[in-house]
Amino acid sequence: MNRKDFIKTAAIVGTGISLLPAFSLAIPQDQFTRDQLIGKGNPDITGDSYTSTMHIATAKALAQMSVAAQAEGIEIEVVSAYRSFDRQKQIFEGKYKRFTGQGLSPMEAIEKIIAYSTIPGTSRHHWGTDLDLIDANAPRPESVLQERHYHGKGPFCKFKEWMDKHSESFGFFEVYTNNANRKGFAYEPWHFSYAPVAKPMLQAYKKLDVKSILAAESILGHEHFTDEFITKYRKENILDINPQLLL
Ligand SMILES: [Zn+2]
Repeated sequence: MNRKDFIKTAAIVGTGISLLPAFSLAIPQDQFTRDQLIGKGNPDITGDSYTSTMHIATAKALAQMSVAAQAEGIEIEVVSAYRSFDRQKQIFEGKYKRFTGQGLSPMEAIEKIIAYSTIPGTSRHHWGTDLDLIDANAPRPESVLQERHYHGKGPFCKFKEWMDKHSESFGFFEVYTNNANRKGFAYEPWHFSYAPVAKPMLQAYKKLDVKSILAAESILGHEHFTDEFITKYRKENILDINPQLLL
């Protein structure tokens, strides 16, 4: 983000002065290390629980947005925030073992896993900028992160409507939008990204060699990640997102 854009964003958020230290930690983009980009440690991550651990700038902007939402009777609740590489590795490898154990080929298992989960080292949740959100004031369905809860007569419709109108002014953008032409991960009306930090992180992430990372980290099944597979995954699952987060 250049200086002019920063001032613009800060003015919109209305907390330019308090956010300044966090921004200066986050940029310039070439200061992101490989480890920060793949969820293996980041000094800017703060919080003490699964749902409160996130980038310090994300936390500040979320606090601002939550206050504004509360005034409209919406209680923004974080269901998932920062997720480490090791946690994502556990999830991925657990499913890989289960699916191959059920007789799927390694490639079939990988395809089935990435319909809903990311490959460790490639999740936006590694950055501390991305949050899965619901409205704690609405009746709580059994499984909260379902598209139907955010549409029609779903409990999170009021939240969704409010977020559509206001979240971007606080820096939060939907990532996996409801666009029929979009490939990669399915529509996720609950998943928001704090753009002022996530955008430069994505630009830095794009420079990483995903295939060699997966090999170096000995992810179970990595020998089946062909160049063709990685190219498609990068194009669709990592980069076919809300275009507002791409530049
Ligand atoms: Zn998410």
